[in-house]
Amino acid sequence: MNFDFTKASEACVKCGKCVPSCTIHQINSDEVTSPRGFLELAGAYQRGELELDKNAKNIFESCFLCSTCVSICPTSLPTDIAIENIRRDIAEKFGIAWFKRVYFFLLRHKKAMDFSLSLGAFFVPLLFKVDKNSQSMKARFPLPFVGKRVLPRLNKRSFLNSHAEFIQNAQGTALKVAVFAGCFSNYHYTKTAESLLKILKALKINVLLPKYQQCCGAPALFTGDFKTVDKLIRKNVDYFETFLDDVDAIIIPEATCAAMIKEDWERFMSEDDEMLKRIKKITAKVFMASEWLYKKTELSALLKSLGKSENLVTYHDPCHARKVLKVFKEPRALLEANYDIKEMSDPAQCCGFGGVTMQSEKFKFSQKAGGTKAQMIQKTNAVFVSAECGACRMQLTNALDKEGAKTAFKHPLELIAEVIK
Ligand code: SF4
Ligand code: SF4
Repeated sequence: MNFDFTKASEACVKCGKCVPSCTIHQINSDEVTSPRGFLELAGAYQRGELELDKNAKNIFESCFLCSTCVSICPTSLPTDIAIENIRRDIAEKFGIAWFKRVYFFLLRHKKAMDFSLSLGAFFVPLLFKVDKNSQSMKARFPLPFVGKRVLPRLNKRSFLNSHAEFIQNAQGTALKVAVFAGCFSNYHYTKTAESLLKILKALKINVLLPKYQQCCGAPALFTGDFKTVDKLIRKNVDYFETFLDDVDAIIIPEATCAAMIKEDWERFMSEDDEMLKRIKKITAKVFMASEWLYKKTELSALLKSLGKSENLVTYHDPCHARKVLKVFKEPRALLEANYDIKEMSDPAQCCGFGGVTMQSEKFKFSQKAGGTKAQMIQKTNAVFVSAECGACRMQLTNALDKEGAKTAFKHPLELIAEVIK
């Protein structure tokens, strides 16, 4: 993926419309950490006027890649894509921290990932208190890298390894979907994927759980590890083609994975015509789970025939769902059948997850953005905050815990599955 930063930089008219809503600028109110500041620096870098030194690295790594600026900019200037490309050059120049390299190695080697996580699950109770309901674990005492953070739970068996590859819920010409679980739902928040299975069973839709699906590549893309992204896309495309004609759709309960596959795969392979053709054929069948369930099934009618829950819900819009894929009405429409929804003051404001670097070296920024969001959620007095995204779940669960908030997190599919008997 090669991107002309100069074009985007020159096209920026410096109107400043994007600045007040920029997630990093709200925390660090310096012009260099604002979308127009990033674009200015990106242009200077491409013209050879800016050296990628430690200071520049520090600046470009402080963007959350939330795409808020792109959704606000009158000409949709792709600040996020410019920064992703510069992070590749940063990774090449400075290398990638060892713990990220280990993580990306595991993402590229699924069997090793399965084994490491089940091994990890064995030792976890010594260091963490596990809460099965929230599918999270909290450090018993401050740990290196982690502090006293709440993290997603590790399961002994992944979701995909806990089920047969094909689940028949109906005979004859019933719909058949493949589920792309994503790493969060496969390894950590497995209740999300289990809830999706329950919903598909109630709708009598047959399910394929492709065992050899790989990570979509999003964590590596945000970190600038383009070699890993390239490998993961190619492995997934080869594998998806083995079952694509056999299913009506590939549905994904995770906003980040869905946006990566639907938007970023094509952009990443934009110079490879053959790959582009193959990816387009796949993405025509890819949907976020709530979008597909709302538009293509009888789920709405089924939910309307069921009772109302007393639990008040507030919905947080994952950036990749609302700003990239424009999916925000569908999860609300499904939830509204059985839950009263109270909107928070700015449901589209980024939660501050921001990717691997933001969750490690830049965690102080992530914590600040998370704190603001948690306070916003708390003010609704909702029993549950919901979002179709495992990354938002990890971030919000920790932020709410830190604020001592009573509101708990539940994925929309979990809330929906709970009302289906
Ligand atoms: S992607 Fe988000 S954090 Fe980065 S410049 Fe745009 S609005 Fe700011
Ligand atoms: S809204 Fe667009 S044109 Fe205006 S300053 Fe931001 S990036 Fe530049």
